[in-house]
Amino acid sequence: MLKYLEQQLAERDAQSLRRHRRIAETACAPQQTVTSHDGQRCELLAFCSNDYLGLSNHPLLIEALADGARLYGAGSGASHLISGHSRAHALLEEDLAEMLSPQGPELNVLTFCTGYMANMALLTALGDAQTTIYTDLLNHASLIDGARLARAAVFTYPHNDLVGLERRIAGCSTPRKLIVTDGVFSMDGDLAHLPELLALAERHDAYLVVDDAHGFGVLGAQGRGVPSHFGLRSERMICMGTLGKAAGVAGAFVAAHRTVIDWLVQSARAYIYTTASPPAVAHAVSASLRLIRAEEGEWRRRHLAELVAAFRRGVPEVLGDLLSTRGWRLAPSQTAIQPLIVGSSEQALAMSAALESKGLWVPAIRPPTVPSGSARLRITLSAAHGPGDVERLLSALAWAGKGI
Ligand SMILES: *Cc1c(COP(=O)(O)O)cnc(C)c1O
Repeated sequence: MLKYLEQQLAERDAQSLRRHRRIAETACAPQQTVTSHDGQRCELLAFCSNDYLGLSNHPLLIEALADGARLYGAGSGASHLISGHSRAHALLEEDLAEMLSPQGPELNVLTFCTGYMANMALLTALGDAQTTIYTDLLNHASLIDGARLARAAVFTYPHNDLVGLERRIAGCSTPRKLIVTDGVFSMDGDLAHLPELLALAERHDAYLVVDDAHGFGVLGAQGRGVPSHFGLRSERMICMGTLGKAAGVAGAFVAAHRTVIDWLVQSARAYIYTTASPPAVAHAVSASLRLIRAEEGEWRRRHLAELVAAFRRGVPEVLGDLLSTRGWRLAPSQTAIQPLIVGSSEQALAMSAALESKGLWVPAIRPPTVPSGSARLRITLSAAHGPGDVERLLSALAWAGKGI
């Protein structure tokens, strides 16, 4: 086996697909000290976190995490159904339910240790042998894996192809149908066509699962996410969101009709058979929700939108010719995820390395994370960035692009 694995690793090296981790010596922030895999230590201006509101290092959240540990200790000690379900978890579920159903308690909420687990839990608990799961080609890996593990039949439709989806779903032979989509697509930054998807679900008696990992906290009134951005509410919709991205801490939630939540508690293995997250984490997330919903969250969302607009205005100005001669393109995204699609893994890596030599941390995303031939720089902006950071990024992109 070792020999085989070494061959596989060598193949990845040869194709520029080998991944390496960096060690962050300092907190998640635009300015970070990192150590690379060859031991080099440097200061980088980072455009790669999903900490969209810049809350992960917020003094109030650090304080809340410490308070939570003083109140509830360091660990939960057991799974939720044994003895690990603390008051902090219960309060967080109430806070999320109240935030997401402002017109009254129509949604119930269940929290999870991670978004990956929430998706595994959700799709395996709902996707039984009498169900067909319809999943967008560009959905997140955790949705793909959840669908694989479920007993349901799975049909993958081309990205946002609602016509193909409807044709397929009209001929569905199982009694239950689940349409599954990212709210904001994580490697492209574009939005799912949620109103149309929900209407389609209604026409065909299907349910709609929305993974709002990149919308929650950022989009919609008070950061309620993509469903709120589109003004959608329906008991057909099951919304999953993560709490380690814009919310700045860790964990995830599923918000849905009470019956769905009751069923998950009874049957979702990724919920039942794992130790509950530290209560202090839930305590800190509750503090984060207060920030997200308050004026502080408002200005952070406004500031982020301004940075996104400045970046999108700047790219054609600084990269102009390169875009047309090389066939590079800025993905049509209005969110904090701003991918520059360059195509080949080698070019994406070379750009990333050139940017790093200028002190910028912009990751190259390669297959299999994205379809082959669509390697990209996945640039993410955060409310913790300033306008000067975006200017620095733009001029470094122009410089690096000329040298490739
Ligand atoms: C990050 C992410 C997840 C996983 O959430 P974690 O809390 O990081 O495990 C799920 N879905 C999408 C779309 C994501 O981007």
